[in-house]
Formats: sequence, C-alpha cells, structure tokens
Amino acid sequence: MSAVTQRAGWSRLPLRAAAFVALTCVAILSVSGWREWAARDAVLKSAEAEMANVARSLTQHAEDSLDLLDSGVVGVVSRLEMDGTEPATIAKLKTLQEARKKAIERIHSLAIIDDRGNWLTSPGTIGTTFNDDAFFRYHQLSPKREPHVGRPVKSLLDGEWVVTLSRRFNKLDGSFGGVVLATISSGYLSHFYEQFEIGRNSSVALTHGDGLIIARNPSNEKFIGRSVANTPLFRDAGLQRPGGVYHFKSPLDGAERVSFFKRSGRYPLVLLATVDKAELLAPWRAAAISRMLYVLALVMLLAIIGAVLVRQLQRGQSMAAALVEKEAHFRLLAEGSSDMVTRIGLDERLRYVSPSSIGVVGWRANQLIGTPALAGVHADDRPQVQALVDAMKRGEKEEVRVTYRNAHRQNAEVWLESTMRVTRKDNGSVDGVVAISRDITEQKKLENRLETLAIEDSLTGLANRRRFDERLKEEWARAYRERSSLSLLMIDVDHFKSYNDEYGHPAGDACLRQVAQIIATEMHRSSDLAARYGGEEFAMLLPNTDAAGCALIGDRIRRAIRDAGLVHTTNHAAGCVTASLGGAACRPALERTAGVTSLIEAADQALYAAKDAGRNRLMMSGEVSNLLLKASGQ
Ligand code: GH3
Ligand code: MG
Ligand code: MG
Repeated sequence: MSAVTQRAGWSRLPLRAAAFVALTCVAILSVSGWREWAARDAVLKSAEAEMANVARSLTQHAEDSLDLLDSGVVGVVSRLEMDGTEPATIAKLKTLQEARKKAIERIHSLAIIDDRGNWLTSPGTIGTTFNDDAFFRYHQLSPKREPHVGRPVKSLLDGEWVVTLSRRFNKLDGSFGGVVLATISSGYLSHFYEQFEIGRNSSVALTHGDGLIIARNPSNEKFIGRSVANTPLFRDAGLQRPGGVYHFKSPLDGAERVSFFKRSGRYPLVLLATVDKAELLAPWRAAAISRMLYVLALVMLLAIIGAVLVRQLQRGQSMAAALVEKEAHFRLLAEGSSDMVTRIGLDERLRYVSPSSIGVVGWRANQLIGTPALAGVHADDRPQVQALVDAMKRGEKEEVRVTYRNAHRQNAEVWLESTMRVTRKDNGSVDGVVAISRDITEQKKLENRLETLAIEDSLTGLANRRRFDERLKEEWARAYRERSSLSLLMIDVDHFKSYNDEYGHPAGDACLRQVAQIIATEMHRSSDLAARYGGEEFAMLLPNTDAAGCALIGDRIRRAIRDAGLVHTTNHAAGCVTASLGGAACRPALERTAGVTSLIEAADQALYAAKDAGRNRLMMSGEVSNLLLKASGQ
C-alpha cells in the first residue's frame, strides 16, 4: 500500500468508526423492534388459537343442543303421522313432552301446532305465543321434512328469546298436517357462554345464518335479535368459509377485535368468539415499551460512547499527524544540516546519527549507530569530553560546548566542535544527550595560522619581538619561583649596513634568514627561545642557564656564524659575516631590585662592549664574561 492511500485510509478511519457505531445502533434497534413485533404476533396468534378453540367447542355445543331438540321432535312427528291428531294422542304426547322438558334443562318449550297455526298442546295460536311465525309459514310452503332452525323469536308468554327447531308432519293423505316445535332459550345459551372466561372485553356470539344475533355473552339482552347481516362476516365472499380468523372493528362499540368464526355444517349458525385487541395487547405493550426504553437507553449510551471514542480517534489522529509533521521538520533540520546530529543514550552509545556524518567523520550513519559515542575522540581530548558527558548524565550541566580532535575515516583527524544538550523524559529524568557536531578543522588551521602570525617573525621564522617579550616575562617569573638562573644573549650582525649597501637589500634579507637559521640550530632545549629582536639584531633566551652556560652557547653561535663563511667583503676584519654578542645572566629570586629590563640592559651593554672591543666577539655582563674572554684568548 502506498503512503498516500494508507494516509487516505487512515483519515477515513473515524468516519468508518462512526458508521460502524451508527450501524450497530440501528442493528440493535431493528433487532429489538423485530423481536417485539414477533412477540406481538405471538400474542395475537395464541389469542387466535384460543378463540378458535372456543368457537369450535361452542359451535359443537349449539349443534348438540339442536340435535337433542331434534331427537325429540322426530319422535313426535312419527307418532302424529301414525296415530293422527286425535285428542288422546295429543294428550299422551303432551305428557311425554312435559316429562322430556323437565328432564332436559336446555329445552325451553315443546309444542305441536296444527295446520292452521293453533297450539294443540296448550291454548292459543302462534300469533299469541311468538312475535314471528316465519318458521310456520316455511313448513306450510315447503314439503321438506328436514328440521328447520328458525330465526330467533321472542316468546310472548314469558318474554324469553328463543331459537326454534321445527319439523313438518303430514296428514295421512300427505298434505300439510302441522308443525312439531322445540325451542331453546337464548338466556340458557348466554348463561352457558359465561363459563368461558376469555377476557374482560371478550365476547361470544351465536348468530343465525341470516345475521340475527341468537345469544351473546356478555350483554345478551342488549344484543339479542339485532342484525349484523351487513358486516363483512356475512357479506364478504372471502369470509363465507366454514371458519377462520377474523379481525374487525366492532360496529357495536368501535373497538378493534381479534376473533375466530365458525359456521355450523349442519345448522344455519355462526359462532363468533372475539377478544379486544387493545386489551389483549396491553400487557405486551407495557412490557415492550419498558424493554424498548431500556434498549433505547442502551443504544443512546452506545452512541454517546461511540461519539466520544470517534472524537478521541479524530483527536489522536490529528495529534499523530502533527507529530509526523514535527518529526518531518526535525528530520529536515537534522538531515538537511551539514552539521552531524547525534543522539547518545545513557549507555554512551549512538542511538541516532544524521546522514551528514559521512561528511564530518567519513562514516555512514548506519555504520555508527550502536557504537560507543566517544570512540573516535582523540585520546588526549577524551578525558575532557568524558567529564562533560558524565556531568550531563548526572544532570549537573544542561548544555556544554566542547572542541576536540576526532578520528576521521580517511583523513588522520578532524577538529570537531560539539554542542551537547541533555534530553529528558516526561518525568524529568535524563535519558540521553543530543550532540550537534561540526567540522572546525579549517577554522582551527586558520586560528593556528593567525596564532603563528602573531608570534612569528615573517622574514626569519624565529619568534618575533612580541613573543620574545612575553616569554621573557614568563621565564623571569618562573626563574623567580624556582630560584633558578635565567640568561639572555643579544646578537647583532657586524657592519650590516654596509652589507646592504654592497649586495642590496634582498640579499641582506637572505643573509638575515641564514643567520637566523644558524642561531635556531643552536637552540638545544625546548625552553630556549631565539627571537628576532629588531633589524639585524637577535636575542636568545636561555632559562635555567647560568652565566657560564650562557657564555658557552654565545660563543658557539658566534663561531657558527663566522664558520658559515657568508661572504661580506666590507667586513674587513673577517671577510665574511660575523656577529657580536652580549650575554647576561641573573637569578631573579636573589636580585631584589632587578627586573626584565635590567637583564636586557645588561646584555645590551655587554653587546656594546663587544662592538667596542672589535666586533665578532662575545662579551658577558660582569665578571664571568671577562673571565671567558680571557680564557678564549682574544
Ligand atoms: P655595527 O652593528 O657593526 O655597528 O654596524 P651596522 O652597520 O650593523 O650598524 P647599524 O645598526 O647602524 O646598521 C644596521 C643596518 O642593518 C641598517 C639596515 O640597513 C640594516 N638592516 C636592518 N634591518 C634589516 C633588514 O630587515 N633587512 C636588511 N636587508 N637590512 C636590514
Ligand atoms: Mg644593529
Ligand atoms: Mg649591526
């Protein structure tokens, strides 16, 4: 994956996380919603099953009741058709019917009606007994001998609503003889239905095939005889089945109802068992609402936590981006610089080395990482650098600057100047050092050169007058401290003016260089210093040297110059370049009033004395020089 696509994917991460959280919330909500809906469905299904059981058993009950009535009716019909309607027969049958009615509770009445509608078993006519004689007219017109279940009628004798089951009986000639009737009371049925406790707002209704209510529980009195013929149960073609689930809005009280209807196969009866949907679902609704509230709270909590996490992710990401940018800047600085940037751990090994190391010490960064940081430091400088590093590690120094020599892979060594700074952890403890090192070899060379220029005489290469004066003071002080002797030789070339006149100034310069060279070779101790004092006059400082030693060296120089045989024709006495020397020795600690000037003056006087004495000679200031002079025999 390229860095760009990786970064793009990285930046889309919070969006993806947010989408994931949202999806999770939606998923939880929809799964919970679906489960609640399924629970609701289950409640409805079980109610439907219960209603179906009630409807089936009550239909069975209605059929059984009518069968019971019919079995009595059938017997009476066959007796009447065999024996006719003689009063004796009727009386016998009446007694039989009375007994039967007593035995079977659900039989409301039993009666025999003649072909003109007169009650044979009791006084009166249909018109005085029932508010409707449709069943009688049916048998008058229809030759059918099957039982006929009539519409509910109201008994005018006791005000009871009843259902009639009747059969026609024929006279011997086959003509209409009358009707045998049995009735069942609506009150009995309604009372029977009361036993089925199926809910406060449930109801059971037995309806005649033409839509009139026969019996109902509850409120039998209120509904009986009412027509529900215009409801879908009686009108919709799809509902004219033997039985089934039926959801409807009650035309009676306007409530949604769940019901099951069952049509009798043998009689024109429809039984409808219903339950109020709102009441049915109330417990589910209460539980579902509390459960959904709980889920909703959970989802909201999830959403809030998700939002906080996404926010943190975003913040972390922008922080990481800032860090990457910062690191890029740092790298740009560290790696773009010609200075070598290194990071040194507490174990003093290199943890990071910038690529410029190749230019500074000749090694590549990866060759240096892990190696001891001070390995390349010159042995003479190492103690100083080590001490500084130790002090920083102990937290005594925050930042130091140090100049030292360091090994270079190709060149012998380089001068480095390092600025080192302590790095600390978050808790403030030192965890290493960052060093920025630059090659200052050229600068160092220049410095050395300037230093040399400041103390060297450009013509002869000997120390210049400034250097001489400095050293004279230092050596005087040292001799004073150490109670040692200090000697000084002043050397002046003889008749040099005429040398210039004879050979020219450039030749004079060359001659001075040669004389300087000769004097320089006579410096045997590292503490000896030969200097050009001015013009053609030289000086030699001899620390730890007494007058005798000084005289010895002075005479060696004198002879060496003369023995060099540099042609100088106008120096008539020798024919070559010679020099006169004045020497002086002293012990600063023993000479209370003396100082550096007195030593120079003494040597100078000795020099003048040498000139006066004929040149090409050494004169020592004081006794010793006189003795030496005599000893040398000049
Ligand atoms: P003497 O010391 O023996 O008494 O005689 P002299 O000729 O050496 O004395 P003086 O001190 O008068 O002359 C010194 C001369 O040295 C003067 C000058 O021409 C010459 N001289 C001084 N400095 C230089 C120099 O740097 N180069 C050259 N070529 N000549 C120099
Ligand atoms: Mg001179
Ligand atoms: Mg001279």
